[in-house]
Amino acid sequence: MKPRRLGPAESWASAMRRYFLETFGCQMNILDSQLVEGQLRARGMTPAVAYRDADVILFNTCSVRQHAEDKVLSRLGQLRGLKRRRPETIIGVIGCMAEREKEGLFVRAPHVDLLCGPGELNRLPALLDEAQQRHEHVAALAGSLSRRTEVLHRALEYDSLEALDLSRAASVERDTLQSYIRVQRGCDKFCTYCVVPFTRGPERSRPPGHLVDEAKMLAERGCREITLLGQTVNSYLHQEDGRPVPFARLLERVHAVEGIDRVRFVTSFPADWDEDIFRVMRDFPRLMPYLHIPAQSGSDRVLRAMKRGYTAASYRRLMDTARSYLPDVALAGDIIVGFCGETDADFRATVELTRGVQYSGLYVFKYSPRPGTKADRNLADDVPLEVKQARNNELLAIQSEIMLRQKQAWVGRTVEVLVEGYSKLARRSQGEHNGELRTRGKRSPSFSIRGAAAIYPAGRRAPSGLTPAPSALTPWPSALAPAPFDLASEQDRGAEVSREPSSQLVGRTPQDVITLFDAPPTCIGALVKVRVESATPHSLFGRVVEVISPPRGAGQRSATIGLPVVAPGGAHACHSPGAWI
Ligand code: SF4
Repeated sequence: MKPRRLGPAESWASAMRRYFLETFGCQMNILDSQLVEGQLRARGMTPAVAYRDADVILFNTCSVRQHAEDKVLSRLGQLRGLKRRRPETIIGVIGCMAEREKEGLFVRAPHVDLLCGPGELNRLPALLDEAQQRHEHVAALAGSLSRRTEVLHRALEYDSLEALDLSRAASVERDTLQSYIRVQRGCDKFCTYCVVPFTRGPERSRPPGHLVDEAKMLAERGCREITLLGQTVNSYLHQEDGRPVPFARLLERVHAVEGIDRVRFVTSFPADWDEDIFRVMRDFPRLMPYLHIPAQSGSDRVLRAMKRGYTAASYRRLMDTARSYLPDVALAGDIIVGFCGETDADFRATVELTRGVQYSGLYVFKYSPRPGTKADRNLADDVPLEVKQARNNELLAIQSEIMLRQKQAWVGRTVEVLVEGYSKLARRSQGEHNGELRTRGKRSPSFSIRGAAAIYPAGRRAPSGLTPAPSALTPWPSALAPAPFDLASEQDRGAEVSREPSSQLVGRTPQDVITLFDAPPTCIGALVKVRVESATPHSLFGRVVEVISPPRGAGQRSATIGLPVVAPGGAHACHSPGAWI
């Protein structure tokens, strides 16, 4: 490799102008990527549309499953030729995979220049500088220090990471309708299958004052909905002036921030639940009735092997308590199938739990051992892959039926929707059904058939026990077909929104249900009421009957435009000639 050497007056910022950043994994990684982008842009760099055009290529990685790591290795393989042709391009792996693989990744992919763990992202600009100037592998990894470091070192690390979160104040995020705020780093639970405590280090809760300031700053920039992030977010606890601030108190403080209409939080840990959180959710209206509380298994034997710290019965009680406080709450969960030693009886217990809880959304994962974890060291991965696959499919089919019934129950009701943007689903259908779609203001096919909940694509059978309505025999265009094994949820937030205009708009209800409807683009950013006319297992379809509150962002139409508030049953609440169009 013959990298171009920098002249004395050059800095990496001038030599590296464009970056390409691809993110894998959870919301925590999405937030980390936003903060990294803020750092790069603050130094004058701009995003490249494709990696071929970039001077710096970064992958923010996830280690929770083998599949996610395989994707990154495949991407790195594709970049070998580019690095040969353009050796000055900096290729970096950041996030959990860098932390887990450490320098071994340089052996597997020698054309990678830089590694940076999730706890070291504040050092990324300096690291890029170093990689550019030294032309050799550079790395910033916490390693074993992340858990055994001295108090002073931890304090310094904490301060610099805190500075990274606070650096978003100088970032370029504007008019962002929804944002994440990290309330907690790391995890102390050490579930036997999980790599997170090793890659993200010990659990630390951020100061409540910083979090409230961050929420205020986001509100000033047009944000209406924030999601508080933590690996075990309900375990949040911060000592403020010698007094504990638990999660319920933090929720109250964030709820008080003017301009924020919706507050969510993920992910909760069942064994740490405090009933006070339910009380606050019930009494504070801007806290959304949505909870993601992973069970992982319905078998006590498996839960013990996972070291989860609760039983299936105590988990069920928690879900029942949630519904007693919040009757309309949407409960989402995670299940791992095929964990070490999982018998058919264990899996049946999981099926029973799934049917009993009636989740609004469920992530099902096939167990794959992660190097370094206790399960990988001490337990045999003894469930055959085909058994894992069969259990995975069975659970998803059950969940799909549950979701369809739940969504159908919304038909005829009115839901509140925060309008996020153009619908990707409608856009995909546009290409396929060009000519069938009618022009704006008239109904598109997805609206044209009542009872769409029961419509299935040609050749796909309705879940057992459900009788399709006559209209359901209409084949669902493949682009509009529900994807039963791809449950849309909080982790895909934003994925339903198209950057390009489409025939319909999309947003989410308080329960986080994706909702599509016809409305002019000037509705984007508004809170509206939608009467639900049909449903699939994953989405609701309806029409706008009222604008609750107009868009606020500087880039959107403001309240100075006379927003019509149409009486329920009115045609197009967002349609006001001369104002909205
Ligand atoms: S609670 Fe368990 S599964 Fe969740 S991040 Fe911590 S160790 Fe991993």
